[in-house]
Formats: sequence, C-alpha cells, structure tokens
Amino acid sequence: MTEKYDKIIIGSGLGGLLSGVILSRKGYRVLVLEKNHQIGGSLQSFNRKGCTFSTGMHYMGSLDEGQTLNKIFKHFNLFDGIKYKRLDENGFDIFNIGGKEYNYPIGYENLKKYLYGLFPDEKIAIDNYFSEIINTIDTQDIYLLKSTQNRSEKVGKYLELNAWDHIKSITSNTELQQVLSALNFVYAGVKEKSPFYIHALINNHFISSSYRVVGSSSQIATKLANEIIENGGNICTNNGVENLVIENDIVTGVRTTDGSEYSADHIISNIHPASTMDLINEGDIKKSFKNRMKRKENTLSAFAVHIKLKKDSFKYINANYNYYKKNDVWYASYYDEKNWPEHYFMHCGTPENGSEYTNCIGLLTHMKFEEVSQWKDLPINKRGKDYIDFKNKKAEQLIQLVDKTFPQIKDNIVCYNVSTPLTYNDYLGTPNGSMYGTLRDYKMPIGSYISPRTKIKNLFFTGQNLNLHGMLGVSLSAILTCGEFVGTNNLLKEINAIK
Ligand SMILES: Cc1cc2nc3c(=O)[nH]c(=O)nc-3n(C[C@H](O)[C@H](O)[C@H](O)COP(=O)(O)OP(=O)(O)OC[C@H]3O[C@@H](n4cnc5c(N)ncnc54)[C@H](O)[C@@H]3O)c2cc1C
Repeated sequence: MTEKYDKIIIGSGLGGLLSGVILSRKGYRVLVLEKNHQIGGSLQSFNRKGCTFSTGMHYMGSLDEGQTLNKIFKHFNLFDGIKYKRLDENGFDIFNIGGKEYNYPIGYENLKKYLYGLFPDEKIAIDNYFSEIINTIDTQDIYLLKSTQNRSEKVGKYLELNAWDHIKSITSNTELQQVLSALNFVYAGVKEKSPFYIHALINNHFISSSYRVVGSSSQIATKLANEIIENGGNICTNNGVENLVIENDIVTGVRTTDGSEYSADHIISNIHPASTMDLINEGDIKKSFKNRMKRKENTLSAFAVHIKLKKDSFKYINANYNYYKKNDVWYASYYDEKNWPEHYFMHCGTPENGSEYTNCIGLLTHMKFEEVSQWKDLPINKRGKDYIDFKNKKAEQLIQLVDKTFPQIKDNIVCYNVSTPLTYNDYLGTPNGSMYGTLRDYKMPIGSYISPRTKIKNLFFTGQNLNLHGMLGVSLSAILTCGEFVGTNNLLKEINAIK
C-alpha cells in the first residue's frame, strides 16, 4: 500500500519548506522527503565545542520594516522566536581590494555619499549606476511583490546586459569599477557571463538593509517544519527520493531509499533540476528537456573553515569582511588552484550575553570540485588520510592569508572544521557542490531561465535554480511554484496585506 498525499516535496531546503508551509496552510496534505538526517539544506547548522555554525546562510537583506524580505518573513512568522542582528550601518560589508579597504554602508543614500567622498570626480557615474540598479529592479515585479500580470516590457533589455560590461560602460575609473562590483561573491559572479539584473537584485537586496541570524540559521528551517506538521503535513528525514514513478506521462508517486512508496497528485522538486532528471527513468520524460536540465552550467563550489576561538580573543565584527589579494573582485572568473587562496569572506557568530567578543568565525572562499573529485566515490568519513591531509593543508593556507589582516586569529584557534566541495555535494546534493546552483548567462537569457513547470504535467521545480538563489530568491521561487496551485497574485496579496 502506498501512502497518498496531495503534494510531495522532494528536499527540505528553504524552497521545499516554504512551499510546504504555503500549501499546508491552504489545506493540502503535504509530505516533505529529505535525504539527510537534518532538514534545511543550506540552512543546516552544526555545533562544535559550544560553537554553532550556520553552513549556508550568513546574512540576508531587505529585512527593514516595509522591505521585501521583511514582508515575507512576517507572512511566514519568521520573526517569532528568532532574533536577527542588523549589520553595521556604516559598513555591512567591508572589502579589502588589493590592500585598500572600502565599506558598503546600509542604504542607497549612505552608500552614494560614501562613494562621492571617495570618488569626487565620479558623482555623475555613481548616480547613473544607482539609477540603473533601481530601473532594473523596477522591471522585476515579483521582487517588489507586485502583481505578475503586467510584466514590464523593459525586462528583456536588462536580461541581456552583462554586469561587468555595463559597469565599465558607466565609468572608466578602474578603481570605482571594482568597488561597484564588490558584492559579486554573493552571486559567484563571472565577468564574462553574469547578467546585470542578477547584480542589481543582489545589490538592491543587501544595500537596502543587511542582517544576520542570532544563533543558527537552522532555526528558520525548524520554524517552517513545525508549521507544516501543525498544519497536518509530514516531514520524513533520512529518506531520499530514489525514483519517480511515471505512468502515461504523469508522476504517480516516488520511491525512497528506505523502500517506501508514496503517491500524490503533484510532486515538487526542491533539488537541482539535473538531479531531478536522475530520478526519472529513461524514456519517461522528453530527452531534449532532460538534456537541457543536465547540461546547465553551475556556479563554482566553496571551501569553508569554521573556527572556534579562545574566549575573549577576537572582537566581534558586525560586518562581513571580504578580502581580495588582487585588484579584482571577480574571483570566480580568474580562480586558479595554483595561486589559491586569493580571496576569503569572513563572518562572525553573534556574541551572546552582550559580549564584545565572538568565539566563532567562518571563512569561505571558492574551490573547484575537480580538486576533491578523486575522493567522491568513497563514503563520508572514510575518505582516508590523503583527504584529511588535503583539507588541513588548505585550511592552514587560508588561515595564513587571514593572518595578514587579522593576526589575533591564528594563535587563538581552539579547533576548526573544514567543508570542501565534497561536503556541499554530500549535504546539499547540488551537482559538484555548486554554491548557488545554476549559473545565469546574459548571452542565454532564455536558456538560463528555469520555469516551475516541467515537461511532466504534475511535476514542478522550486528552489534556488529557478530565479535567484539566497533567502530572497528562494522565497520568491516558492511563491511562484505554489502560485501554480493557489495563484501567485493571491499569495502576493496575502503577503502585502500584512502590516
Ligand atoms: C556556502 C554557502 C553560503 C551561502 N550564504 C548565503 C547567505 O549568506 N545569504 C543568502 O541569502 N544565501 C546564501 N547562500 C545561498 C542559500 O543558502 C541557498 O540559495 C538556499 O538556501 C537554497 O535553498 P533551496 O531550497 O534551493 O535548496 P537547498 O538548500 O539546496 O536544499 C535542497 C535539499 O534537498 C535535499 N535533497 C537532495 N537530493 C534529495 C533527494 N534525492 N531526496 C530527498 N532530498 C534530497 C538536500 O539534502 C537538501 O536538504 C549560501 C549558500 C552556500 C552553499
């Protein structure tokens, strides 16, 4: 006997959980199937010797009153019982570019004023740049939580603009070009490919206001999961989906790793479209669609070191610190394992009990999957001494680079934990441990776009691969996917109605 649900969601990442809440609120019986022991995907956290580390959600934007994510968080009750710390008004992100530091203050006017001060001859270019960001955002109705019926005609123009080329066309000042590009690590930007609209959405999101979760980001996953269960849904962990059962071009259910079968009217896949295609038998879906999903280029993977520090040894920084060895912030474009590391993104755990010190810091940078692929077929924790030596060697190299700017870290380390592209591949299931899923290319605006609908009538996609990754992008993807059942504009109305 297979258990019957209205909707089955494959994967309990942010997109899967938000979809589960939306649909269970509307009375649908929902089942979320998760391959891991812990729910949340990139929202997962772990604890080492009293330090809690968030693995893939270090900060988020537009959480000030009236801003987009603030409205979405209210709709999903994500302010209840979870605290968020607003980052430094004068610099939520600090960028060290080739040895010179720059800040990004919160708010357009503050950032403009700061840039006018640094580049007094570039006032017109700076104004033009921010106008272009605002114009681009104005074409993206869903990001403004506006009705999707009157999609702006200007959208096309911005989809086909390259971010780097467009910034260069606005100013010939090479230093300013770098400063205006500085947030591109947050979308794993590639000079030759990344579209300007992705740059604009990310910049608008974080410049509007920036916050980090106090404690672990897994609180968000737990909160959403609890509501699904309260609404009558089920969440089943340690139970990955192995196969979609398809009859006469309709998915009737799924088979899972524990040998169970579940059926449903609709299946929503919160995993990468290429991984979804791997769950479908040959001949059960159009070959051209399968190949298109499988061939998608993905963003680069990551390498992270999560460090526990001695008590009161390192003052909390209420900002992210982004280091670029070269005068070039487009690190994903020139990443070279021979010169690694040339970049890091450092974030601090929010201190408890009002202390001015943090005990936990995280370092994050890019790494290619190929550098660890020799260990990919070995089970987790059984990859042998070579892999452990590789991880430790790379972690020490990264810590050495950090030591140049923060000499108080190296000698105060109690212990550290390392994540490689294999870790992201194991715990998120993204192909080759890709950080943010599919890479958008301005030369292929249509090819870069993934619709919630698939070539199978009752199979849908949600999550970071649809429109945009991250807290905002994935929330909006969940709205668009669930909008297929309950109407996107109805959901937007509900969200906008909350005060
Ligand atoms: C290192 C890192 C740092 C980041 N930092 C930030 C940040 O600071 N701010 C921000 O906004 N965004 C950040 N992001 C991006 C953000 O975390 C993601 O875009 C977002 O969480 C992705 O959510 P998702 O729903 O698409 O799926 P995912 O989080 O990828 O979850 C997919 C889930 O599906 C499960 N799964 C896979 N295969 C199966 C299967 N066959 N059966 C069942 N379950 C399966 C996985 O185990 C996983 O739980 C970061 C990402 C990374 C990797």
